[in-house]
Amino acid sequence: MSYQVLARKWRPKSFDALVGQEHVVRALHNALEQQRLHHAYLFTGTRGVGKTTLSRIVAKSLNCETGITATPCGKCSACVGIDQGSFIDYVEMDAASNRGIDDMTALLEKAIYAPTQGRFKVYMLDEVHQLTGHAFNAMLKTLEEPPAHVKFILATTDPQKVPVTVLSRCLQFNLRQLSASVIAEHMQTVLAAEQIPAELAALQLVARAAAGSMRDALSLLDQAIAYGGDKVSEAEVRQMLGAIDQRYLFALLQALLRSDGTSLLQQVREMEQRSISFPTALSDLANLLYQIALAQTVPGAADTASPDHLLLQDMAAQMSAEQVQLFYQIAILGKRDLGLAPDEAAGFSMCMLRMLAFMPGEKAFDKRSPDQGREPAPAGRSPAVTQTLSSQTSAHASDLAAETRPAPSKTVESSPRQLKQAESVSRHEQDDSSHADGPSSPVADPTSAVAAPDEAMDLVTTAIAIEAIAFDGNWRGLVDQLKLGLARALAQHCELSRYDGNAMYLNVPQAHSHLLNQNYQQKLSQAISQHFDRPIKLHFSSGGGDNTPAALMGQERARLQSEAEQAIRQDDFVQALVNDFGAQIIPSSIRPIQ
Ligand SMILES: [Zn+2]
Repeated sequence: MSYQVLARKWRPKSFDALVGQEHVVRALHNALEQQRLHHAYLFTGTRGVGKTTLSRIVAKSLNCETGITATPCGKCSACVGIDQGSFIDYVEMDAASNRGIDDMTALLEKAIYAPTQGRFKVYMLDEVHQLTGHAFNAMLKTLEEPPAHVKFILATTDPQKVPVTVLSRCLQFNLRQLSASVIAEHMQTVLAAEQIPAELAALQLVARAAAGSMRDALSLLDQAIAYGGDKVSEAEVRQMLGAIDQRYLFALLQALLRSDGTSLLQQVREMEQRSISFPTALSDLANLLYQIALAQTVPGAADTASPDHLLLQDMAAQMSAEQVQLFYQIAILGKRDLGLAPDEAAGFSMCMLRMLAFMPGEKAFDKRSPDQGREPAPAGRSPAVTQTLSSQTSAHASDLAAETRPAPSKTVESSPRQLKQAESVSRHEQDDSSHADGPSSPVADPTSAVAAPDEAMDLVTTAIAIEAIAFDGNWRGLVDQLKLGLARALAQHCELSRYDGNAMYLNVPQAHSHLLNQNYQQKLSQAISQHFDRPIKLHFSSGGGDNTPAALMGQERARLQSEAEQAIRQDDFVQALVNDFGAQIIPSSIRPIQ
């Protein structure tokens, strides 16, 4: 049995079946019903939105043996011929490859003769803007006084390049770019009819990647079906689309919100391994932050068809508006300065660390003696942060880290002036060292501190890192250290959303809310208070779930599995078996080596 690609098999054959172009369909439908026929139509729109499809439906409407109609029968020789591309009076010509005067003259000479088979000769000129000036002029004469039996359908992705003299003689229809939700919905219909199981999130990913083109969406869907072995799963589509997956951006933000420097740098290393472009990552991060800000201020504006919609909503709820603004500024300024960084990975890491260092806290400024905040970070405190800073950037930068991430065991908080100065250090990293002496240089009054070169960075001064317990935000690491007994089940399914010196805010995914009994809560609270040697109150709420220790372990297992499968697929010997002997790889039989 031969496989027909979806885009062809599912090409709409009637106005009813055309998806997402209701405004054009209605106008054409009415015109045909009322027999108000024009001799030239111009369809504009980006690729894959249905211009050729629409042209064929119009040709059938004009030539159907049941009469001129908005509902061609689809069965007569005219309808079938047009659908199959064998109808002699319907000519599709690609103006990109037949753009000269000779081609046009040949076409126009034939147009004079009456149709052989049908009622009208219909000429479809695709990418008509590619015609040469002479060809346009030749066509213009026919457009001015067309024979009654000739209809022109012109199509273009670039109407700006079509001469006004031609435009003015056509009835113009603008086909819309299809929204991701329309595309995803149509793919669902197609797959249901094809009896191919698919996850909605997978279809949303494909729809987003298709960028408005149904044809591209269906081609990608063909690939996804082949890739997934007759099913379409989210994980496989993510793998197939590769770089389009933006989950790593959420992982970065989540690490920032947990103040988890280790995990943050781990993410950066993974990005390097996956060869993700750092400048693009900063742009994408800025764009994501923009989406988050949008979700916070205008909740209705969110794109609910986005596969990451829920993650985005979740992030919007977790972040403060100031945080979003600040991270956005750091991201775009970081992108601007990326060329000045020792290398792109270092520049990107520096941006992340800057976000981490200037995390807006929950408390107001707490002015203390500057000396208290100037103690260097103890060795055990986010070692990865300090280490990476000093290895990848200048010594000033590690001063910055030490300053803005005060020693937690002393419950020290940074004062505004220190941060102001720290910021001036970071801003003048390339300057001479007069500012950059950091800890030992005299501290200026905050009001007279170095003025920010651009207003954006002023935001930084409002963002102060406040931490009162010796905790790096690594909930999973903390849980591992606690003696919990049965309450471990609850801890494994908690996600830390934020914490301060006295309290931790934990999300428990709906699916595990049964673990929220008094007993486990108490046990967990006791163990944590004991661990930090001070009372820590726990606040539980329902929701989240991507970052619980249990979920993270699951993700790790899935990653190991996929790496193992990848390794098997890429193995020369295995490939030879597949290619030469028709062997099949059964993914479920592959187990990663632990
Ligand atoms: Zn027909």
